[in-house]
Amino acid sequence: MIRTLALAASLCLGAASAQEAEPSWSVVIHGGAGVIERGALDAQTEAAYRAAMNDAAVAAGEILAAGGSALDAVEAVIRVLEDDPKFNAGRGAVFTSEGRNELDASIMRASDRQAGAVSSVTTVRHPISLARAVMEDSPHVMLSGAGAESFAAEQGLEQVDNVYFFTERRWASMARAAMRMGLPVPPRPEGAPQAEPVNEGALDLMEREHAFGTVGVVARDQSGEIVAGTSTGGTTAKRWGRVGDSPIIGAGTYAEPGCGISATGTGEYFIRLNIAARICTYFETGMSADEALDAVIMDELTGLGGDGGVIMIAGGEPLWRFNTAGMYRASLVDGGDPVVAIFGDEE
Ligand code: ASP
Repeated sequence: MIRTLALAASLCLGAASAQEAEPSWSVVIHGGAGVIERGALDAQTEAAYRAAMNDAAVAAGEILAAGGSALDAVEAVIRVLEDDPKFNAGRGAVFTSEGRNELDASIMRASDRQAGAVSSVTTVRHPISLARAVMEDSPHVMLSGAGAESFAAEQGLEQVDNVYFFTERRWASMARAAMRMGLPVPPRPEGAPQAEPVNEGALDLMEREHAFGTVGVVARDQSGEIVAGTSTGGTTAKRWGRVGDSPIIGAGTYAEPGCGISATGTGEYFIRLNIAARICTYFETGMSADEALDAVIMDELTGLGGDGGVIMIAGGEPLWRFNTAGMYRASLVDGGDPVVAIFGDEE
């Protein structure tokens, strides 16, 4: 309320002062958080993640600078990250303990609080586009499993065999986790490429990263609209149809006027704390964005034993906060240069 009144007051002051206060567009992106420490990434891997984050920020910036909508920018950038096998979303997603990729995604628009989400889809190449279709073309907010896939077919969205999402390192990581959990390693999926040796160091790193790599984008366009979106394969060797926070509006993704959030981390904690909506509520009711982020991520999430972080647009400003050693991340504002970072001691 306090924040809404302040916004209304600033709109009354006229466009010029409002423009001075905030960049006309902005975007912030994450590619997952975890124990990503200096020295844990070899130079080539680090450069590849930085390039992917930078390119994502630039691509979003081009759409927003040309007057494109935040919705288009969020969807377009997440589609590219879903196709990038480095990230735990779309191709390159983690495996369930049964040897399948089950994908979750969600998207939310601030101005009318419209939202769409999908969980446990196995054949949709771009789950974020399906989430958008749920928002725009269905009377529902969240669809799951086979029903979500029928809706994808009706919408003419691209569908692929589950094996399309296969990557060797995620397979090897799931096999390791299954053995650790005392579960049988499932048969290699039909159609998967021939097994290749996987660098054990890379597997160690993925485990330390907690196999995060979920992707999320929050964008504010020139009209002031804010949209947040998140896409993930969930957690390695998940069982029993487990669904995390990423497709849950309020937990992994949230947007309301003046505030947008996308989260990454151990979803169980993010659901229990309703992290994304909680940060926006604290901000809306009088805390600064930094105070709201500190209260929820550094105090409440950490206090409960959860790990991960969020990206946020508050007003027009991109921010992030995480309690892990690192988070793949980037931001860009109108008139600025991309800011790209991985480790906790940067930016
Ligand atoms: N939050 C995701 C989940 O729990 C995982 C992640 O962000 O890495 O499904």
